Amino acid sequence: MATYGIDLGTTYSCVAYIDDTGRPAVAKNMVGEDTTPSVVYFETPDNVVVGRDAKNSAKLEPDLVVSLIKRQMGQDIELSFHGTTHTPESISALILSELARAATEFTGEPVREVVITVPAYFGVAEREATRNAGRIAGLDVLNVVPEPVAAALHYEVVTPAGERTILVYDLGGGTFDTTVIKVAGNEINVVCTDGDHHLGGVDWDERIVRHLLDSFLAEHPDSEVADNEDFLQELTIAAEEMKKALSSTTSRRHNMRFGGDTARVELTRERFEQITGELLERTLDITERTVATARDKGVASFDDVLLVGGATRMPAVAARIAERFGFETKLHDPDLAVAKGAARFALIESVKLHLPGEEASQSGQATAGKQATAASPAAVQRVADQLGITTEAVRELAKKKVRTVVPRAFGIKVVDSADPDLRRQKVAHILPPNTALPASPDTERFGTVEDNQTEIEIEIWEQAGATVSEELADNAAIGRGLINGMPPLPRNSPIDVTFTMNETGVLRVHAVELKSGKDLHIELQIQGLTEEQVEKARNAVARYTLSE
Ligand code: AMP
Repeated sequence: MATYGIDLGTTYSCVAYIDDTGRPAVAKNMVGEDTTPSVVYFETPDNVVVGRDAKNSAKLEPDLVVSLIKRQMGQDIELSFHGTTHTPESISALILSELARAATEFTGEPVREVVITVPAYFGVAEREATRNAGRIAGLDVLNVVPEPVAAALHYEVVTPAGERTILVYDLGGGTFDTTVIKVAGNEINVVCTDGDHHLGGVDWDERIVRHLLDSFLAEHPDSEVADNEDFLQELTIAAEEMKKALSSTTSRRHNMRFGGDTARVELTRERFEQITGELLERTLDITERTVATARDKGVASFDDVLLVGGATRMPAVAARIAERFGFETKLHDPDLAVAKGAARFALIESVKLHLPGEEASQSGQATAGKQATAASPAAVQRVADQLGITTEAVRELAKKKVRTVVPRAFGIKVVDSADPDLRRQKVAHILPPNTALPASPDTERFGTVEDNQTEIEIEIWEQAGATVSEELADNAAIGRGLINGMPPLPRNSPIDVTFTMNETGVLRVHAVELKSGKDLHIELQIQGLTEEQVEKARNAVARYTLSE
């Protein structure tokens, strides 16, 4: 039984597995390519096309084609095609189903147990939505793993052992992350992470589209080309091709024709770098922030700076990182590293799941070390046979530990005591970003706002912006609870609030009013799909015939 790692990308996805020789290998898709566009075309009420043909259909049937759905993961939105309602989870599930179908075809082994990658910066809701997408696709999602961790796992295979600190700069099709990771022996620890999940290769494409359009309009000012969907779709595809080409050549031409008007545009790499320079600088600003956070956490230097994600093939990326930070970067399998590392992580998770006495690890938080050594040789042999790997590999994999961090801050809404009118409300953060999971920050003390208060509302908020801010507008409310039935209390009566978060990001909040001893426990339910909705979506998705 093989286990698979799936890199469910914003623009492209990739599936990998561990081959007979123990090395990660990519399962090519039905058209023989390593990566598949994460694009879905609802061709008919019963048939869905995923991948390159879907991407090419965007210009003919833009209303029936969905791209970049990963940017919507974790949001409560609905889309309708041929009268059937879909969510970001069910659309992602269609991509996953097709990837699984193609991988089964390629390896001859059914795809069931999988690990799916997520950007390190994904919050709790997005991770949960990703798990649900896998379940809707009928897959057994062993875990989700942050993309830079997967990249580091792959990288660990190809570098000599020893303790190393790695900075991962991951510029994919639609998201950007920077993450600092420490690899030491069997432990992989995320030190800190930051990112922008609305910044990726597609933004570079958009700048080229704008440039092409402006050039066309400069020659034909009266043209209505800018309102023509088909033409814009064509330009989007051409723009991506030009961008990729400009990674290896220094100039590229594009011919445009619309309603009898023509224009020929030449784009040099230099000009391309000018019109997209601001985007690259934004990634470098985030990188700088990450480096500063790492420094605060005691990381002063990096052994390696890894470039991950197809868009890091743009020569300007390595060049500007070198100029601004003096880092020499490594580019190794940027489009495939994440899937290959995820395949390795899937095997680790699978070993932990199948070894007796082992709890199904949802986190990669291995308690497996001691249990693996405690596992009987017969059990180890059985798992080795089951997974098609050596007993030695089973023991080694069972020792691996991966520790991640909470990517965002969490806190509660409070009244700002500095405001004389006691009107201004703000978020008091209790769990800072980049705390290692499981996390149990110190209990914080707050006070009641008014005299004779008999109830206290505890509202939990999650950081929504790029950096920690106490402004409500920069945070999102994610849950609430009420402590009530208290005797009238004097103003400023103490309330202690304790946050804990487990390895999978489940947040538990305990609030206690100290005078009465009344308390409140909240376990945060992520506002994702219910079990029933997952089941319903699974049936809806299973009804389609899929093709590539
Ligand atoms: P990923 O999600 O890691 O597969 O990254 C996909 C992004 O990388 C897309 O925006 C691609 O257009 C971009 N990409 C792939 N190959 C290249 C290349 N040779 N030069 C520039 N960008 C590329």
